[in-house]
Amino acid sequence: MVRPVSLIHVLTIDSATYDAIVAHARRDHPDEACGVVAGAEGSDLPTRFVPMVNAAMSPTFYEFDSTDLLRLYREMDDNDEEPVVVYHSHTATEAYPSRTDVNLAGEPGAHYVLVSTRECGNGEGPVEFRSYRIVDGEVTEEEVRVVERYDDVPTNAQEV
Ligand SMILES: [Zn+2]
Repeated sequence: MVRPVSLIHVLTIDSATYDAIVAHARRDHPDEACGVVAGAEGSDLPTRFVPMVNAAMSPTFYEFDSTDLLRLYREMDDNDEEPVVVYHSHTATEAYPSRTDVNLAGEPGAHYVLVSTRECGNGEGPVEFRSYRIVDGEVTEEEVRVVERYDDVPTNAQEV
């Protein structure tokens, strides 16, 4: 699996997937919500929204259910997909990876999305939606580009 090398880090995400992540975060507030958006290997485009159960059911911590996670990785393997986005919410703090989040980040190719519902709870108020690369314990924030469709997104455009 070869992943395109981005000179400028950017997460390109379609608005339907963006909205689905935000809705999940609001729904599970005040517990943290978590999930994955899978995409075709090497595409860097998140297409298959997979909300997961927070096995920790905690307002300060998330943990994928290990059986669910194993099933998801088998599915992605069968479909030639990879976890393009790994997301979770913070319900009382800013949308920035905690030390625990950084320690648990095992997908150097993934976009780690953090949504904070601290301002809005389950309501209509604004959420924070931010994205990061986490590689070898180093956190780099990246631009989030929301598009209507991926049709117009040239592959590996960020390399130009
Ligand atoms: Zn966190």
